[in-house]
Amino acid sequence: MFQRASAAAARVFELLDEDVEIVDADNAQSIEHVDGDIAFDNVSFAYAKGKTVLSNINAEVSAGQSLGIVGPSGAGKSTLLNMIMRFYDPSGGSVSIDGRDLKTLQQISLRSHCALVSQEAFLFNDTIMNNIRYGRFDATDEEVFEAARLANAHEFIKDCIDGYDTVLGERGVKLSGGERQRLCIARAFLANPRILLLDEATSAVEPESEHLIQNALKRLMEGRSCVIISHRLSMVRDCDTIIVIKDGGIFEQGTHDDLMKNGDWYPEMYNLQMGRDEKETT
Ligand code: ATP
Repeated sequence: MFQRASAAAARVFELLDEDVEIVDADNAQSIEHVDGDIAFDNVSFAYAKGKTVLSNINAEVSAGQSLGIVGPSGAGKSTLLNMIMRFYDPSGGSVSIDGRDLKTLQQISLRSHCALVSQEAFLFNDTIMNNIRYGRFDATDEEVFEAARLANAHEFIKDCIDGYDTVLGERGVKLSGGERQRLCIARAFLANPRILLLDEATSAVEPESEHLIQNALKRLMEGRSCVIISHRLSMVRDCDTIIVIKDGGIFEQGTHDDLMKNGDWYPEMYNLQMGRDEKETT
C-alpha cells in the first residue's frame, strides 16, 4: 500500500509543481467597476502548436445583453467562453471587457466580476450554508437564504435532514444533479456578478428539475451580460445574438429569427430538436 501511495503522491506533486501558465503582468490593474461590454477581437486559439481550434473570431456582447454560443461538439465553444475568465489566453487577437484587454487586468479582480455555472456543479465537503456562502464570504445568513430562494433551492434545503447545516459530500448527504446545480446558482446570486457565463448549465440535470433550473437561470440573467453555451437551442433562442461555431470559426450569426430565416446549421438543428421534443411530449 505504501508503494502504491508513494507512486500516486509522486503524480500529485508533479501536478502541483507545474508552472502556472497565465500570470498577471507586472503592471496589471485591478478593475473596480465593470459595465460588462465583452469583445472578442480577431481571436485565434490553439492548445498545441499547429493545431488551431479557433481562428478570427469577432463577437461582442454589450453591457446587459446576452450572447448564445452553439455548434457541433468539439467546435471550440467552451474554449471561447473560458477565455473570458482567462483560463486560457488567445494565441492571436484579444479579449476585452469595457474596452480593456484582459491581459492588462489582475486575474483576481477580473474574476470577481464574473460567475461561471457549468455542467459540473462543484460542491465542497461542507454544510449547504458554507457551500452557498462560497459565492461571497461576508454574506449574512439572511442573504444566503434569499439567494437560495431566488435559485429555487430553499424548499429542498429546508427538507434536508439539518436544513442549511446539512453536510454534503462523501460522508454527508448526496444531492441530485439538479439540486447541486441550484446550489451553484444560489452561489452565483450571492456573488452578484456583472458577467454571467453558463456552460451547458442544464445538461447534467434530471428532466424533472430542468424547468426549476431554467426558471432560476432566467432570473439570474436579468440585467447582466451573459454568455451561454447550450446544446439545447431553446436555451439560447432569446439571446440578443447567437453565434454558431463550426470548422474553427463563426459559421453564422444573428438573432434566433435571423438564423431561422437565413441560417443553415441553426434552423436544421432547431427543427430537429423541436420535432424530437414534440414526439417526447406526445
Ligand atoms: P462540447 O460541445 O463537446 O463541449 P466544445 O465546442 O465546447 O465541445 P471545446 O471543449 O472548446 O469544444 O474543445 C475544442 C477542441 O479542443 C476539441 O477538439 C477538444 O478536444 C480540444 N481541447 C479541449 N480542451 C483541451 C485541452 N485542455 N487540451 C487539448 N485539447 C483540448
